[in-house]
Amino acid sequence: MVKALILGINGQDGSYLGELLLERGVEVVGWIPSSIPVNLENIQHIIKRIQLVEGSLSDQEAINACIEEHRPDEIYNLASPSSPAASWDSTVEVGDIAGLGVARLLEAIRVVHPAAHYYQASSSELFGNPVDVPQNETTPFQPRNPYGIAKLYAHWLTVRYRQEYGLYGVSGILFNHESPRRGLQFVTRKITHTAAKIKLGLESELHLGNLDARRDWGFARDYTEAMWLMMQQEAAGDFVIGTAETHSVREFCELAFGFLDLDYRDYVVQDPQFYRPLEKRQLIADYSKASKKLGWHPKMKFEELVKLMVDADLDTLQSNR
Ligand code: GDP
Repeated sequence: MVKALILGINGQDGSYLGELLLERGVEVVGWIPSSIPVNLENIQHIIKRIQLVEGSLSDQEAINACIEEHRPDEIYNLASPSSPAASWDSTVEVGDIAGLGVARLLEAIRVVHPAAHYYQASSSELFGNPVDVPQNETTPFQPRNPYGIAKLYAHWLTVRYRQEYGLYGVSGILFNHESPRRGLQFVTRKITHTAAKIKLGLESELHLGNLDARRDWGFARDYTEAMWLMMQQEAAGDFVIGTAETHSVREFCELAFGFLDLDYRDYVVQDPQFYRPLEKRQLIADYSKASKKLGWHPKMKFEELVKLMVDADLDTLQSNR
């Protein structure tokens, strides 16, 4: 039986990946942080079928002990603070967990269990303000915030451990991926959650920043399928994962409110507090390598994703009333 360790199993991606691996008959060990209060809501439905381990990516001994004890065939590292914008408030912590944490993990694998396959969660944030449009695996990296900078260190370390030590390490450069399990600090979930509240009379306005900002938004569960595929190849490699489409925050609002029979223009207030500097970026994925080598394609269309998120928020709010 294949055994997998998912670091960050309680997050959006970790929980979808946990479901996917269980469906495929994989034994799942989930690592959750010991240092901060942990929300287990995303994994309540599978919690009885997985084994949980608490630890910190700052703790080399704990990482070594976990890998020594479980000797997982596959190790997925999805444990990291996930908000690029918020990373300016925690540069050192983000560097320690998203950057040095990966050094500790790779060292543990090299020393304790070098046969393990390792997945590193990289991000389109590596591209910063991209020089080429669209972006693929050869586009130069120029991250612009502490999150992207820590992720860049982790990305290169994964690549170099593969080349230098022959470890099976892959880096998935994932563009924005959303779902009903996305944190409320991200614009998609902020919109669907607030729109659902407005529909139920629990809120009257939605304050947003730049409505013309565009992103390449996909569905998180589709992206965990790509992670799994990357780990099943003969040779390890790095892959860009996205949809090759961009949409604006405005389009997202229009659809989300539309599904609730509301007009976003009646509720959305543009608020300078949520404007970000340096926003002239065109982030769009060229995932042709993943499509050719992994046979991977995003399954869920943009409209379906917005509808899924709106429906889920409406359902949850209604059942909590
Ligand atoms: P990011 O790609 O990781 O920064 O994902 P976000 O969901 O936080 O932001 C996506 C885009 O939405 C960015 O270009 C933001 O500038 C834009 N945006 C506009 N209004 C808001 C807002 O109120 N909150 C957030 N988080 N983003 C906003």
